[in-house]
This record gives sequence, C-alpha cells and structure tokens, in this order.
Amino acid sequence: MSNKEKSSVVSGFYKLPVKERIEFVKKFSNLTDEEAKLFSQSLNIDIADRMIENVLGNFELPLGIAVNFLINGKDYLIPMTIEESSVVAAASNSAKIARINGGFKTESTDPLMIGQIQILHIKDVASAAQDIINKKKEILKIANDQDKVLVKFGGGAKDLEVRILDSPIGKMIVTHLIVDVRDAMGANAVNTMCEALAPILEEITGGKVRLKILSNLADKRLVKATAVFDKEKIGGEHIVDAFLESYNLAAIDPYRAATHNKGIMNGIDALIVATGNDFRAIEAGAHAYAAKSGQYTSLSHYYKDKNGNLVGELELPVAIGIVGGAGNIHPKAKLCKKILGIKTAKELAEVVVSLGLAQNFAAVFALSTVGIQKGHMSLHAKNIAVMAGATGEEIDKVADKMVKEGKIKLDRAEEILKEIR
Ligand code: NAD
Repeated sequence: MSNKEKSSVVSGFYKLPVKERIEFVKKFSNLTDEEAKLFSQSLNIDIADRMIENVLGNFELPLGIAVNFLINGKDYLIPMTIEESSVVAAASNSAKIARINGGFKTESTDPLMIGQIQILHIKDVASAAQDIINKKKEILKIANDQDKVLVKFGGGAKDLEVRILDSPIGKMIVTHLIVDVRDAMGANAVNTMCEALAPILEEITGGKVRLKILSNLADKRLVKATAVFDKEKIGGEHIVDAFLESYNLAAIDPYRAATHNKGIMNGIDALIVATGNDFRAIEAGAHAYAAKSGQYTSLSHYYKDKNGNLVGELELPVAIGIVGGAGNIHPKAKLCKKILGIKTAKELAEVVVSLGLAQNFAAVFALSTVGIQKGHMSLHAKNIAVMAGATGEEIDKVADKMVKEGKIKLDRAEEILKEIR
C-alpha cells in the first residue's frame, strides 16, 4: 500500500469478522503471512521461561486495534492490549472526531532519564556538593564508558545535578545523572551508570553511597499531545460547556483526578503492554507528575477556543523504548511495533500520549452526556450471555435482549437462552 492510500479510517471495522480485520491490518502495515499468523499464536513457552522466573504458562489478554488515528499528519493503527471493554471503541471514536480539525499534534523533549545516587554520612554537604560539580567532566566520562553503544547513537550521560536533602536521619546529597537514552526505555542503561559512579562519588565526598537507581519521575522526558474536538460533531457548544464543567472537577479535586487519570491510562497502558514496555514505570511517572505542584491533579487540560471548539492537551513523562527490554523479545510486541510503523521511541511516545488524550476525551464526553454505563453495558451483556452458556449467534441475541430490557443479569440471560433455544 502506498503512503497516499494509507488511511486508518475504516467504517464498521468492529463489524468485520476477525479474519477480515487481520487482512486490513496486514495490508495497512505490510505484514508477511508469517506475521499475520502470530495473532492467533500463544507466546512460545521457552521465550516465556526466559522472560520471568518460575514460569508455568502464558496469561492471554485480548489484542485489539484502534482505528482513525491521525497524528502529526500520519495515519496510525494502534494496537491495544487490555481486558476492559469499550476502551478500544472509545479511542477510535475520539480519533475520528479529532481528525476533523487535523488530528493530534505533539511535541516532545529529548529522551532524558534521571538516575539518582544517594550519598550519606558526609561531614560538609555544601562543599562536597561543590566538589562533585567540579569533577563533572570526569564523572560523566566514567558513566559514558559503561555504554559505548548508547554513546555511538548520540546518547549517553549529558549532565549532573546535585541536590542537598534534609531528612530525619540527617543531611544527604542526591546526585542526579541526566542520561539521553535515545530509543531505549533506559532503566538498565541508567542503573549501570549509577552503580559505576558509586566509588568515585564516595571518594570525592568522603561519604557512603546507598541507593543508585533511576527515577521513574522522568520529568525531563515529556511528551505533549493536543487536539481540537469539533463542537458540532460533539453536539454543540452546550456540550463543550458540559464537558468543561466535568473536567474542572478533575482539575481541583484529587478524588476525581485519580479516576480522570485512570481513564487516560486505560489507553496508555494498553499500548505500553502491546509494545512490550514497562507499564508500571509509565504509571509511576504519570501519577508522580500529576502531583508535581504538591496537589494531585488532572494530567490533561481542556479549554474552549475562539470558535467554541473544545481543545484538549495532555502532557506526561513517557519512558518507553523500541530497543531493549521485553519489547525486543516478545514476538507480538515486535509485531505491534510493525503495525504502528514507528521508527523511534520518541514517535512511539507521541502515539502513546495522543492515545491517552483520545481515551480521556471519550470518557469525559460520555460522563458529561449519556454516562459511561451505556457503552460498557452492551459488551458487558455479551460477557454475561457467554457466562450463561450462550454460543455463536446466541450471544448477540441474548445480549441485545438484555440491553433492550435494561436488565443485564445472569439469571435473565439464562432465561432468555432457554426461550430462544
Ligand atoms: P536494555 O538495557 O535492554 O537496552 C538498552 C541498551 O540498548 C542501551 O543501553 C544501548 O546499549 C542499546 N541500544 C542499542 N541501540 C540503541 C538505540 N538506538 N538507542 C538506545 N539504546 C540502544 O534496556 P533499558 O531500556 O536500559 O531497560 C529497560 C528495562 O529495564 C525494562 O525491561 C524495564 O522493565 C527494566 N527496569 C525498570 C526499572 C524501573 O523502571 N525503575 C528498574 C530496573 C529495570
């Protein structure tokens, strides 16, 4: 397929049989027959056994595709691995609305991670801190000697920041090593450097190094996505106002902000998992960043533009890689990266944040209008129908009837199943 023909807009994708959906993705992303077969294959047990300890088997999660995404002028099909219904459909819907005004636009910083080295039992912390700064060149060289490959790709340790912290056990110095990790998530790379710096930092300060590890508050590795959601498409300016009323609670109240941000992570985690990245790292970074002002708040921001349209912005740290980690080992994670057609970790991070914004818009929009239960319930009804023993066409028949009746319960599903059989 040439670039011009590549559109991620597919109407009724959800109605297609699985086989035809795979055919569409295969064509869009130039997958080989072998790659397309991977969708129905489980992870090889030998690979699983090398990934973690005490392996017994695999735990499967559904892999879906979000459609309609236009990000920085490029079309994307986005693989999502998640157990929760409605998430993939909601993201696809938001992406369709965002396309009207040009889709998602992003900006990002360099992929800078922070490594922390904690130094205790120092006699004079102020002069020791200055001594560290004076030896910066030597310290950065030792760090960079640990990862020649990273340096070859233009990355490596770039800077040092020295913090003096007071604690119940006395004063300590925390040295931050700033490392450009290029296309890696960077945890191993940064941790190796931090450990290698312990002896020289003890020598310089006369203190004792304790912790040497990366910080998941990766606030020097930020990505921001913006989109304009068309007021007419979402039902008029009064819906924009209703949306902003809902959003404002998340901006001022941690109880609402936690749920608001959970909705963002519905999308983000699904893509992080699909690409074999570390979702705990992303979660930790996102929530710590949401509390950076001292009060936990919404990661996204919304306002009305001069035309009355709704503008959404989402910014968070995104520590993900396309090299290293499980993403280079797991065949489906490699496949998902090919589906996305991403070339760099930065590009993947920009897709991640755009997806988070799409997810957030969908949730707040639904909450501001019909509520989220309507969307949730139709898929939930199908699950209940299956639990009642429905198979094949029976599933939709039982689910549809329960949704119409507004009674989605196991006993009702069993009754309907009896009636139609
Ligand atoms: P890694 O060490 O497997 O791979 C990164 C290395 O790949 C680099 O150090 C570099 O030598 C090489 N490389 C080759 N081409 C590159 C390119 N274009 N750009 C950058 N590097 C390139 O992986 P990592 O990213 O350092 O670590 C990720 C893993 O660490 C994840 O599995 C994560 O779960 C785990 N981890 C996380 C934490 C945490 O988040 N706190 C702590 C420890 C480990």
